[in-house]
Amino acid sequence: MKIRIDNKLCQGLNRCRAVLPEVISGSDDGKSGVTGDGTVPPGLEDDAQDAVDGCPFKAISIVQD
Ligand code: SF4
Repeated sequence: MKIRIDNKLCQGLNRCRAVLPEVISGSDDGKSGVTGDGTVPPGLEDDAQDAVDGCPFKAISIVQD
């Protein structure tokens, strides 16, 4: 499982970073981005879904690999 963040939709409220700091980090523009290729470590799938569900701008999506 990987996640993606749409930089155009993200408004930088940072909720997702608190939920999934292992994968989501800040970007220079104040918005959030994924670390590396966005791969979610085993065991954090539910946290990834929580990050998706918690983004008020629907900027995060899950990509099944
Ligand atoms: S919760 Fe959504 S809008 Fe807020 S920083 Fe994360 S991706 Fe961006």
